[in-house]
Amino acid sequence: MLHRKTAVPQVADTASTLNRPLVLVVEDEAALLTMLRYNLERNGFRVEEAANGEEAIARIAEERPDLVLLDWMLPVLSGIEVCRQIRRQPDTRTLPVIMLTARTEDQDAVRALNTGADDYITKPFALEALMARIRALLRRSGAMPAKGRLEYADITLDLAAHRVQRNGRAVHLGPTEYRLLEFFMQHPTRVFTREELLNAVWGPDIHVEPRTVDVHIRRLRKAINGDGEADIIRTVRAAGYALDTEPA
Ligand code: CA
Repeated sequence: MLHRKTAVPQVADTASTLNRPLVLVVEDEAALLTMLRYNLERNGFRVEEAANGEEAIARIAEERPDLVLLDWMLPVLSGIEVCRQIRRQPDTRTLPVIMLTARTEDQDAVRALNTGADDYITKPFALEALMARIRALLRRSGAMPAKGRLEYADITLDLAAHRVQRNGRAVHLGPTEYRLLEFFMQHPTRVFTREELLNAVWGPDIHVEPRTVDVHIRRLRKAINGDGEADIIRTVRAAGYALDTEPA
């Protein structure tokens, strides 16, 4: 089995991307690895990869991830063995581990948990369930800030439940629009360029056209501005966007 190394462009992390929890995904199936990376990044995590058990041990020592998503069936060193080694090392004894397993026998689940995995999920799994388990474990370990709510003007964003309300009315947002709004609500009235928004919301490793930002801003506006409500996103000509109730 060949090692799969992804070329990560050397872009300076912004403060907000550094705050994101780092998840190490250990998976030898390239397609699944790509899918997991894509979805974890969309959900606001940073991602490192390892394609086998030995590489996983090295990555853990180098990168100090906040959580390991560990496939059971791996070449070189099995997931169970990697988990054992993680638990044996004083540095990583409490590192949260979720095992990915294709095995459905209860016996195997018990074995995964006995080896020291904090949780396990059986393939094929629902992504939302996986994300919820990752968030729950990270909150328990303290790697994810205690979630509360953000408020600005008549908008409330419930960080734990991922719910948005404006003026008491539920607002339904796609994942990108949600993260855009969350970012804006962390820095109300501040103007961000498209580049800054791309870095903060999509992450520095994702290459998308700055124009993509406009598309998502449009969707966010459409969802959040109801009939007769003021537009709370201010377009600043030649600069970018801000969450701001004051017109320019
Ligand atoms: Ca596998």
